[in-house]
Amino acid sequence: MASMMQPQIILLKEGTDTSQGRAQVVSNINACTAVADTVRTTLGPRGMDKLIHDDKGGVTISNDGATIMRLLDIVHPAAKILVDIAKSQDSEVGDGTTTVVLLAAEFLKEAKPYVEDGVHPHSLIRSYRTAGNMAIQRVKELAVSIEGKSLEEKKSLLAKCAATTLSSKLIGGEKEFFASMVVDAVLAIGNDDRLNLIGIKKVPGGTMRDSFLVNGVAFKKTFSYAGFEQQPKKFLNPKILLLNIELELKSEKENAEIRLSDPLQYQSIVDAEWNIIYDKLDKCVKSGAKIVLSRLAIGDLATQYFADRDIFCAGRVTEEDLQRVAAATGGMVQTSVNNVIDEVLGSCEVFEEKQVGNERFNIFSGCPSGQTATIVLRGGADQFIEEAERSLHDAIMIVRRALKNSTVVPGGGAIDMEISKYLRQHARTIAGKSQFFVNSFAKALEVIPRQLCDNAGFDATDVLNKLRQKHASGANYGVDINTGGITDSFANFVWEPAVVKINAINAATEASCLILSVDETVKNPKSESAQGEAAAGAMAGRGGGAMRGRGGRGMRRR
Ligand code: ADP
Ligand code: MG
Repeated sequence: MASMMQPQIILLKEGTDTSQGRAQVVSNINACTAVADTVRTTLGPRGMDKLIHDDKGGVTISNDGATIMRLLDIVHPAAKILVDIAKSQDSEVGDGTTTVVLLAAEFLKEAKPYVEDGVHPHSLIRSYRTAGNMAIQRVKELAVSIEGKSLEEKKSLLAKCAATTLSSKLIGGEKEFFASMVVDAVLAIGNDDRLNLIGIKKVPGGTMRDSFLVNGVAFKKTFSYAGFEQQPKKFLNPKILLLNIELELKSEKENAEIRLSDPLQYQSIVDAEWNIIYDKLDKCVKSGAKIVLSRLAIGDLATQYFADRDIFCAGRVTEEDLQRVAAATGGMVQTSVNNVIDEVLGSCEVFEEKQVGNERFNIFSGCPSGQTATIVLRGGADQFIEEAERSLHDAIMIVRRALKNSTVVPGGGAIDMEISKYLRQHARTIAGKSQFFVNSFAKALEVIPRQLCDNAGFDATDVLNKLRQKHASGANYGVDINTGGITDSFANFVWEPAVVKINAINAATEASCLILSVDETVKNPKSESAQGEAAAGAMAGRGGGAMRGRGGRGMRRR
């Protein structure tokens, strides 16, 4: 009675929207399931692509989980976590982005009935964490090392990993062609961690098969002035000078104010300008370089000057390309032409300007340090080439990972089935509720082979039963994407680097535990309007936003 008399305690500001308890956990799980449903159909070699168009009219066709998740612009706070793990998977290992989202959502889906029945999320979380760790341990045990093989063997092994990644993409039809190209490119750059050493240049037109790999650098011909056509377009063993200065006549007499007392002095001012540029050009020529590249403009005077002396030049080369030329040819970018010594000049075996489709390309091949490679991609529509680039990026990352960690596991759901079986066996030894939770975790792992079947139009129940039976005696069997039956994935070279699976299981477990542990969301309406204010009046918005942000956090902590 007395408690009823007490005034109501008002904790949150008026208008604050809260929801809490079991219902909140369940609603978060539902949101995550909805997100997973949108990318579900893209998994595997028979997966479908998504076409996403934004309000600016940009159209993207993609099969890549991370790309789709990023473009979807998800607003649900809990479901955003799935976007984050897809992104982190993309940057950590580069592949398996759909897998990680599906796994996380499936873990949650399996947990949902328990939460609804009143199981405390922390019991679930504890079991999931243990199960996740055991699963990762098991993947590590089962992984097969490719260390200690000869280069040729290693190459073909890596090509198989790349082919598995590419098989689920738009360019899957030419996977062997691209896989060997990717492996060559990655091996070319060696142990260097900089991804941008592998350039991908897109040239619309032609067919996929017209794509080629340059063992060195290639970039599109830059803007050029009259006289350019007289320059030689092919050199053997040329010296290359890389600059970051302008080689252009600066008509300062038009920009600057000059006071002259004697009309004769005027000529000397004009002459001075010409002398400066001729001096610069002369020094470039004297350095012995046959190719001059600059990040800044090379004007018509310089172009003519070089043409007369059989030197090739290109101005306005992008920073990235210039750096790659520097890395490949062993040259150093100069900011002055004084004192150009031989050591700062780069060199390569062959330089050539070639026609590729409608574009002309400057190609430097046979570079001494060999630490760059460029893939020139050909194909029909723009969207197609862009998706091809994204797919190649996945494959490049995978080959690099495989090269670094050098362990692989069978794909096509084989490893997932094996882990699932292992966890089920372990669950039987557990007394108490935890047995159910570990079992659910094991069951959730089967989502990968099941989805591969669904996407290919196979009878998932039938295939999964066969797989379970095979795996009872321990096997590398996975879904056979060609016949709708089962096959030894390992023997058929459907391989994935072990890190893809390890990272995916880890991230998915973490994400699902995180989402299970949230039982309340507080939406502070003021913080939303603060953003509006911020847009309108910077000062007011900033002050108000900071205040409210602090207040909001305090409240949630209570
Ligand atoms: P993700 O974004 O997770 O990499 P993908 O669409 O690339 O998703 O699909 C990857 C899945 O497809 C992996 O589980 C892989 O084992 C499987 N897979 C790839 N190639 C084959 C194949 N030839 N046969 C069966 N499964 C395959
Ligand atoms: Mg993939």
